[in-house]
Amino acid sequence: MHVKAVVTGGAGFIGSHLSDYLVARGHRIVVLDDLSTGSETNLKQLRDNSSFELVKGSILDKGLVDDLISDCDTVFHLAAAVGVHTIVDRPLQSLRTNLHGTENVVEAAAAHGARVMVASTSEVYGKNDADGLTEDSDRILGSALKSRWSYAAAKGLDELVAYVYGQETGLPTVITRFFNIVGPRQTGRYGMVVPRFVSQALAGEPITVYGDGAQRRCFGSVFDVVPAVVQLMETPAAYNQAVNLGGLEEISIRGLAERVIELTGSTSTIEYVPYDEAYGEGYEDMRRRMPDTTLAGKLIDYRPSRRLDDIITSIIAHGQPAVPVASPAPSP
Ligand code: UDP
Repeated sequence: MHVKAVVTGGAGFIGSHLSDYLVARGHRIVVLDDLSTGSETNLKQLRDNSSFELVKGSILDKGLVDDLISDCDTVFHLAAAVGVHTIVDRPLQSLRTNLHGTENVVEAAAAHGARVMVASTSEVYGKNDADGLTEDSDRILGSALKSRWSYAAAKGLDELVAYVYGQETGLPTVITRFFNIVGPRQTGRYGMVVPRFVSQALAGEPITVYGDGAQRRCFGSVFDVVPAVVQLMETPAAYNQAVNLGGLEEISIRGLAERVIELTGSTSTIEYVPYDEAYGEGYEDMRRRMPDTTLAGKLIDYRPSRRLDDIITSIIAHGQPAVPVASPAPSP
C-alpha cells in the first residue's frame, strides 16, 4: 500500500527514523517540523528523494496543519516539546505546543478522515514504579503546581483528545507510549541521558549522574520501535488503544554510566549531581520505570530484540556533539 503520510516532528530523533522507514517502504511522506529541537541534518539522506517533502512550520499553525492533513491517509504525530530540560526551562511554551498542537492535528485528522498515531510517553505513569507498567496502570503525578509534571499532564490530555475523538467520531487512532527510546541521532542537549553520557565519555569529561544513580530505566531501541509504530497503524485491533513500546533490560543510571565508560574505553569519572542543581528546586524523579509490552506482543507480535550494549555501541559509532552542562532551571 503506497499511502501518503504526514509525519509531524519528522526532523526529530524518532520522527526521522520513522521517515526513513516509511520512504524505504514506498510511502510518500510530508514532514512538518518547526526545527526547534529537530534538525534538517536528521533528514539529509531523504533530501533528494521525490517521495519526501519537508515543510518547516509549527503544529500550532492550525491552517497549515489542516491543509497538509487534508491531502493524506495517515498522520504520525510526534511533534512535541520534549526533554526534561525543555519542559522545566520553558513550561508555558511546552504546554501550548503539546496541548494545542495535538488538538490541531487530531481535529484535522478527524475532519479529513485520516488515521492518526499520537506519540505519548511513559511519563504519563508518573511516579508509579510498578514492576511492569501495563497500559491501564494508574498514573501517579506529583503536585499540580510543579511545572515538572506539566509534560506528563499535557501528554495525558493529548491521549484523551485522541481517545475521545476516536470514540465519538470513529477516527482510527493509536496512542503509542514510548519508554526511554534511544538510538543514533538522539541529542543530549535537552536532557536525554544516554546521548549525554556518551558525549561526556567521548570527551573524557565527568559523567553527570543525577541523584544517587539508583533510579532505574529500561531503554528501548528506536530500530525496534519504528516498525512497530507502522504496524500498529495497519492493525485495526490497535485502534483507539494506548500501547506501550519499549525495551527489555532494566538498568540503574549508575550502571548505565559504568556501561558507557566501559564501552567507550573512556577515562571519565562519575560525578553525582543533586537533582536541585540539575533541574532546579523541587524536582521529582521516577525511581523506576519498566514497561510491560504484552499488549504490543498480542497486537503485532512485538518482540524487541536489541540489547542495551548494542544500542549504546550504535550511539557511540554515530558520535555525539558536546552537550552543554545542565543549567539550573527556575524553581517550579
Ligand atoms: N540523568 C542523569 N544525568 C543526565 C541526564 C539524565 O543522571 O545527564 C538521569 C535522569 O535524572 C533520570 C534518567 O537519567 O533519572 C533518565 O533521564 P532522561 O531525561 O533520559 O529520561 P526520563 O526517564 O527522565 O524521562
